[in-house]
Amino acid sequence: MQTEFQTISSKKNAGMTLKPHRLIQVNIFILISVIIVSLITLAEKKYLAASILLAIEPVLLFAVWLARNRSVELAANVTVLTLTCSMCLLSFWFGGLHDAAISAIPTILIFAAMFVSRRFFIGLLTCILATMSSIYIANVSGWHVNVIPPISFASLFNIVAILLTTSYFVWQLASDLRNALERLEKENARMNEALSHIDILANNDALTGLPNRLLARARFDQFVELSKRNNERIALLFIDLDNFKTVNDSLGHAAGDSLICDVASRLKNAVRASDTVSRQGGDEFLIIIAGQADQESVATVAVKITDVMAVPFKINSMEISATCSVGVALYPDNGHDFDALLKHADMAMYKAKESGRNAFRFYDAQMNTNVIEHLHLISGIRAALSKGEFRLYYQPQFDIRTGRIIGAEALIRWNNPELGNIPPNRFIPVAERSGQIHEIGVWVINEACRQARQWQDSGLPDLVVAINLSPVQFRRDNLERDVMNALEAAKINAATIELELTESLLIVDSDHIRQLLKRIRALGVHLSIDDFGTGYSNLGYLTRFEVERLKIDQSFIRRFTENKNDEGIVRAIIEMAHSLDLEVVAEGVENIEVLNRLRELGCEYGQGYYWSPALPADDFFTFATDWKRNSSSS
Ligand code: C2E
Ligand code: MG
Ligand code: MG
Repeated sequence: MQTEFQTISSKKNAGMTLKPHRLIQVNIFILISVIIVSLITLAEKKYLAASILLAIEPVLLFAVWLARNRSVELAANVTVLTLTCSMCLLSFWFGGLHDAAISAIPTILIFAAMFVSRRFFIGLLTCILATMSSIYIANVSGWHVNVIPPISFASLFNIVAILLTTSYFVWQLASDLRNALERLEKENARMNEALSHIDILANNDALTGLPNRLLARARFDQFVELSKRNNERIALLFIDLDNFKTVNDSLGHAAGDSLICDVASRLKNAVRASDTVSRQGGDEFLIIIAGQADQESVATVAVKITDVMAVPFKINSMEISATCSVGVALYPDNGHDFDALLKHADMAMYKAKESGRNAFRFYDAQMNTNVIEHLHLISGIRAALSKGEFRLYYQPQFDIRTGRIIGAEALIRWNNPELGNIPPNRFIPVAERSGQIHEIGVWVINEACRQARQWQDSGLPDLVVAINLSPVQFRRDNLERDVMNALEAAKINAATIELELTESLLIVDSDHIRQLLKRIRALGVHLSIDDFGTGYSNLGYLTRFEVERLKIDQSFIRRFTENKNDEGIVRAIIEMAHSLDLEVVAEGVENIEVLNRLRELGCEYGQGYYWSPALPADDFFTFATDWKRNSSSS
């Protein structure tokens, strides 16, 4: 910023710089005063004094010219030197130590102290002191005795001119200084504000205002110091939203941001003010609980967090379920520094996700080996796709009312030479996280359609093949195309296949997903909801999507004749489905009692070990043809 006066660091100019226009103003003012005084002096016939004054004028003009040409430093030196010399000369020659000219000297010194070099200033001062001493010596020795002239109008005018000139100059100087100080103060305030803003930005998350990882780490380190003294535990909770990606992808980033802000405030309200809630980025949050963080009380906090998050959020006047998974690591039990604890809390969070989400887990050392196994799985899946290690098995589905076989659910199987048979519940979540589910999904759709064609050609024309879809497969736009390509390649009717969707996909009433399902449904493909009852069971969405069937999760069916609660749930689901014009498939029918009860309740379809487990394609073909033959002969 430009100020009237600026500090200069060079040694030579170790004072303040003067702006040219100010020096020009001052010099012109002095010049006018000198001209008037010299004219009065001439009128008084004091020719010597007048000629000294007249001699100053061209020099001052020269200084003005220098200042105009940006040689401000030289101009200041010339001005100061000229004024000092003329004032010394006038006082030596005329009034001596009582001369009016001496009254201008303090102002000249102030000016010099501010704008000329220290050496130059000392030179001037020495010259002034020498002049004063010479006046004294000359008077005492009688060599030159100063005569004080009687007071006249001219002497009044002289003193007034000196006072006016010096006060004008001092006033200008002071107001420039005041302005510069004012500007400096403003600049300082702005700087402080900027610094505190930078501090906030560096330590806080811009969206939620919560501390960021940097500040969380610093707080954690402080807590560690305290806890060492008091021998207490610190808990680090790693929180990850379960469906954030779906919300963000389907409702847009603004809705995602507003969900994150709501989550942040719920988390803050769920813990004590002394605990630290921070955002790690994306949909990940950290909570640091210090002071007596034993497992019991931390578990209570984790329960509270999952509870408050389970209440649906209202975003854009829509209700959105955004549950979370929480991983907990404890200091000093699970690590001695922030990074170790963060890593372990993160692992525990993944455990919670694997356990079915909307849950929390404490870290235990066993997890390390699980992570290694997890990495093996990821690389194994990649190889399995290229080596063709995946197979589809088919579990028959039946019409409970007629006993007819109506179709099959395609279930993926992976037999790895090293790891053996790996159940889909173990590798599908891994493939979902690593993104490999897209390739697996396309393979499953193509293979199921190809198999359906083969069965049709071999004399099983009316079977519907159900294909499981992961919600992750909806995140890319090519699902519709994949389905169409597979139908076309296998040359089968779209009604030959059914797509099984999960509830979590439908919790967000997303226009994108609704349109996509509408288009898929328009092709003639059937749609059903898998594992109904395990997720959100928010019935509102059922009417908005074009699904035709509900599959009640096997966990309710398997022993529901023994458990009154499960029976109540199953009955309620069947009644609700019927009232919405949906058909019901019961999964996990294992015995005749369950089958009979389901028939009484009006459930239309079923599958389960009572009839058959999932079978390789050839075995399924034999099973289905035998079944058809037997049921038509009976
Ligand atoms: P799901 O779609 O609910 O499949 C039903 C699961 O229940 C199958 O397990 C099946 O073998 C099992 N099951 C069937 N009848 C009974 C019974 O009477 N008793 C018991 N105890 N279990 C029975 P599976 O094959 O292990 O599949 C597990 C899950 O893996 C599936 O659940 C599905 O969510 C997923 N999955 C399987 N194949 C695929 C696939 O190709 N793609 C995707 N995305 N997911 C798949
Ligand atoms: Mg299924
Ligand atoms: Mg199921």
